[in-house]
Amino acid sequence: MPKLIPSKLYSEDTGMAHAQCKICQKDFGEHEIYGVQKVYKNYPNQEAQVLFDFALCQTCMEEARAELSVESRLRIDQFIMGKLQVLEAKGVDISESFQEETCSLSGKLLSESKEYQVVAVCRGDELLDSPMVMSDDILEQIQELLSEESKDELNRFNENNFGWPPELKKIWQDGDYVLL
Ligand SMILES: [Zn+2]
Repeated sequence: MPKLIPSKLYSEDTGMAHAQCKICQKDFGEHEIYGVQKVYKNYPNQEAQVLFDFALCQTCMEEARAELSVESRLRIDQFIMGKLQVLEAKGVDISESFQEETCSLSGKLLSESKEYQVVAVCRGDELLDSPMVMSDDILEQIQELLSEESKDELNRFNENNFGWPPELKKIWQDGDYVLL
């Protein structure tokens, strides 16, 4: 049975599943595969706040990834695979990390993470794979794997393709978030 997208991954703007690519404005319809990204920040004594969220079609996701150098991409893939293997060896089931509010790659509790990012692959109103959750420590480590060149390329890509308002642009540039 297909899994439905949990409401937590709905668009903050519409309160429904994301329906449009943030970059090319393509409507997803029922058949298009797309990626949802949400970045959360924890504040003391309140629920985590969504800093920003958006969805990208496959083509735009691939273009974003193509901005990274081959070496950066390879390093990130190897880093993620390595973390997954460690968890697998420990018998941790990462498919539940989103529901259990833990980091998919380190197991850290999200409530103890200053900020975190969720990436999910969807089609129509279906969730195609378990959402990947990354806590602050993992995001920092991934940033360190990016070459300066890749960071510049990603910033340029953001600048050219996302119409972020200035305050969001600043968060995006200063933060450790990654387009995956
Ligand atoms: Zn697109």
